[in-house]
Amino acid sequence: MIFSAVEDFALQLDAEDPLRHFRERFHLPLGKNGEPLIYFAGNSLGLMPKTARQIVEQELNDWAKLGVDAHLDATTPWYSYHETLREPTARLVGAKPLEVICMNSLTVNLHLMMATFYRPTKSRFKILMEEPAFPSDTYAIKSQIVHHGLDPKEALILAQPRKGEFTVRTEEIIDLIEQNAGQLAVVMIGAVNFFTGQLFDIEKITKVAQKRDITVGFDLAHAIGNVPLGLHDWNVDFGVWCSYKYLNAGPGAVAGAFVHERHATNAKLPRLAGWFGNDPNTRFRLHLDPEFIPVQSADGWQISNPPIFSMAPLRASLSIFDEAGGMEPLRAKSIKLSSYLQFLLQSNRPSGSDFTVITPRETGARACQLSILVHEQPKESFKELEVAGVKCDFREPNVIRAAPTPLYNTFHEIWRFAKILTEHQ
Ligand SMILES: *Cc1c(COP(=O)(O)O)cnc(C)c1O
Repeated sequence: MIFSAVEDFALQLDAEDPLRHFRERFHLPLGKNGEPLIYFAGNSLGLMPKTARQIVEQELNDWAKLGVDAHLDATTPWYSYHETLREPTARLVGAKPLEVICMNSLTVNLHLMMATFYRPTKSRFKILMEEPAFPSDTYAIKSQIVHHGLDPKEALILAQPRKGEFTVRTEEIIDLIEQNAGQLAVVMIGAVNFFTGQLFDIEKITKVAQKRDITVGFDLAHAIGNVPLGLHDWNVDFGVWCSYKYLNAGPGAVAGAFVHERHATNAKLPRLAGWFGNDPNTRFRLHLDPEFIPVQSADGWQISNPPIFSMAPLRASLSIFDEAGGMEPLRAKSIKLSSYLQFLLQSNRPSGSDFTVITPRETGARACQLSILVHEQPKESFKELEVAGVKCDFREPNVIRAAPTPLYNTFHEIWRFAKILTEHQ
């Protein structure tokens, strides 16, 4: 696509955007001047769907009216509430419905998956991650290693960007897999890196690692609702994600996990169990010493009864994704938005020396976020954006992360963002 830096061009793109009406489905936070903020922080906390309030109120009303009977008699019965999320979630991650479960929070789910899939032996005990990974993932993985009586210094391998580069090459990951093949137990990568916005080649990494009998998991925190996924066909072993970023399900919303069918139906796999992972037919047995019989699906990793109030807004959000036609049209707009931003940051500054977009240029290797390294006065530039009504974030010492999302951002917002940033420089 050929872009133009003229304001009318941005307005034209908005007028032609088939998804433009979805913006009205969200509450847009307002700036000091009463105008909507340019909200490029959907990678941190997605905006509130207007329908979320009504769905949460429904559950509050059912609680008020029915008390304990709401478990079975609520408009959407609570006992099986998680089942209402199953199919729309499976569509987003490219899974069979039996491979997904919405539960807990992301880091908790990562621990639960590791409890099953990280079974270190004397010879195979290493874990490969990318650097920089999100801190919580690093804490979780290191503590898993220590939990098994091992030393992260020996057991944790980090794939890093090469000198002078910002993102990790797929070859680098593949080389490390090959070099450590006999000792690697698990490869666990953030599918879209939170800092650089890089989208990894999930299918390729999975294939290479599995050829060496290594288990492969992905943290999809920045991938779900952002890029199309095909976890089942790519044969990924497990995945975890949160729902408050691109899924717009609200602060601390219930998270999710993917367990590939060939594991999900394997009742023999070790796991940390609780009653909601048990077959519903025998869940309530009260005799002594009941035996745990896992549900033969990802539900078998569920532990507790579902948190209804943190699941309700997710239902509102998932139905918007379905109405929008799923990830394909959203991704098409997303690529256009981020490419337009990239174009404007460069075209307004022919010298090209003020910013370095550290996110990969190839659209296949990035999602919606652009991470912009500002060479001169980065903090002042960020301040300028804030004052002008832009909500994005700053990572020390000099990176601005901007995440225009296709559901509620516009091309004109991209144009205004680029104008503010480039005029400051
Ligand atoms: C946002 C994010 C988290 C947050 O973890 P919670 O358990 O939801 O608090 C963890 N990992 C990654 C990669 C993230 O992007």
